[in-house]
Amino acid sequence: VADEAAILERLRSAGGRVTGARRAVVAALLAADDHVTADDLAATVQAADPEIHLSTVYRTLDALERLGVVDHVHLGHGRAVYHLADDPHQHLVCEECGVVIEAPHDLFAEVAERVQATYRFRLRPHHFAVLGRCEDCVRRAAE
Ligand SMILES: [Zn+2]
Ligand SMILES: [Zn+2]
Ligand SMILES: [Zn+2]
Repeated sequence: VADEAAILERLRSAGGRVTGARRAVVAALLAADDHVTADDLAATVQAADPEIHLSTVYRTLDALERLGVVDHVHLGHGRAVYHLADDPHQHLVCEECGVVIEAPHDLFAEVAERVQATYRFRLRPHHFAVLGRCEDCVRRAAE
């Protein structure tokens, strides 16, 4: 669903209205890099149309998330970023320099199985990043 017309069609068929503001949010989302915050999107949208409010951006993202078009992840300290849900992946974030390493979606599959078997708990590891130290920062600390 990575094109604008298909995404707008999904909003419409779910009973949502496709307003100019929603259209602008979807366009900004598609044009953005991976990992944009709602504030980043709002800044892009507001550069084109200052009338569009941050709350509209959040509501549109919520609607798109309910439809499974976008997904959010917290990269650290609660900061949520959005990306299109058709490219699921895991995030490894360095606590020192903030670099984000993208890893395959099934990275924690074995852990998830053990957690399910032992605790009857279903992990959604892609909702939060896993924090640690990248190789550069480990090397720098050792110098
Ligand atoms: Zn990502
Ligand atoms: Zn969340
Ligand atoms: Zn680092």
